[in-house]
Amino acid sequence: MTMVLVLNSGSSSVKFAVFDVLQGATGAISPLCTGNASRLNEPGAGEFRLEWQGQKEQLDLPRNDHEGAIDTILSRVRQLGLLQQVAVVGHRVVHGGDRYRAPTRVDDKVLADIESFSAFAPLHNPPNLIGIRVCQQRLPAIPQVAVFDTAFHGTLPPVAYHYAIPQQWQQDWGVRRYGFHGISHHYIASQLPLLMPAPADGIRAVSAHLGNGCSLCAIKNGISVDTSMGFTPLEGLMMGSRSGDLDPGLHEYLCEKLQTDIHGLTTLLNKDAGLKGVSGLSNDMRTCLQAADAGNPHAQLAVELFCYRLAKHIAACIVPLGRIDALVFTGGIGENAAPIRARVIALLAGLGFRLDTTLNEQRADHARNVATTSSPAIWIIPTQEEGMIARQSLALLNEEGCHS
Ligand code: ADP
Repeated sequence: MTMVLVLNSGSSSVKFAVFDVLQGATGAISPLCTGNASRLNEPGAGEFRLEWQGQKEQLDLPRNDHEGAIDTILSRVRQLGLLQQVAVVGHRVVHGGDRYRAPTRVDDKVLADIESFSAFAPLHNPPNLIGIRVCQQRLPAIPQVAVFDTAFHGTLPPVAYHYAIPQQWQQDWGVRRYGFHGISHHYIASQLPLLMPAPADGIRAVSAHLGNGCSLCAIKNGISVDTSMGFTPLEGLMMGSRSGDLDPGLHEYLCEKLQTDIHGLTTLLNKDAGLKGVSGLSNDMRTCLQAADAGNPHAQLAVELFCYRLAKHIAACIVPLGRIDALVFTGGIGENAAPIRARVIALLAGLGFRLDTTLNEQRADHARNVATTSSPAIWIIPTQEEGMIARQSLALLNEEGCHS
């Protein structure tokens, strides 16, 4: 048995994929089957989508809670004859605190820890836990592995993970920068040495994961040395509906003006800010770019602000890295939005970045360098979070020597 089922159980959806990991040990790997269950816990029917051997299917979920969604996923994957070959289930877990720095086989202690980290990631860890528990019940003979989004940032040096606050707050309550999107940044770090020659002291790169959530990772010789998200995924870059960095002095003022408490304000900064808040239109970059092209000044400002803040954060990575050999764009925006890449690179001209505009406009689903020859590399690399979870889960099983 060499197959891995990957589950990414989020607040209103469960994404899944099945991989045959023997296909490739290091490079990009394609799933045999992918899909998702969405619109969970909302009024109306949940949606189930699956793609297998070029065929797409879509149906209403018989039950639209997480447990019902996972039951439908398992039953379809079994009907396709794949579940019978699954050696391990890999789960994306958003927060692993400062304890989990590697993929970990789930047992009662690990479950209890993930539960305790729910206080740090209340939107993410609880649905991750449901995914694990349902799989444990339905597939008791198959090992479950947790792959943490915080783990890749376990190498951050103290100067990158401390906040300038009383140290007691960190010691007593774990208040520090953790960083997220680690599975994606780790995949990027694993691909760069396969794509470009490495200087003697290793490749120094900035990975820009730009999806609905956006974060940067400064990668030095394969490890994370700084990142833009912090204690929560709200810190750092401007995102689809998240504000990113703000003056902490603003909160009290805004609570008063908005007649809300800090919980209400945090929800607004997560759900109604970013591209959505500035454009007044949408959290979706495609919509914002179309409206900006059509002359909408709010959408134009949203796009400009997104690029300006992103470029400033990228430039700041020169401090932990010393030099930048490669900048990587990944995630839905990073992989697809050529105008965003062009604007950001224009803002980074002072660091020597030059874009080959023809290459930048070409669409492709493989990794490619779109820099001119005089520039540091500018890679577009399709991220493979699910593939990375699959590879790491099977690797852990093989290390433990319990792979049948
Ligand atoms: P998630 O973080 O939910 O996985 P994705 O990585 O799929 O999200 O990224 C979603 C973002 O990518 C959206 O803002 C979407 O508009 C943007 N995007 C996808 N395709 C394009 C495109 N062709 N041009 C511009 N933006 C795009």
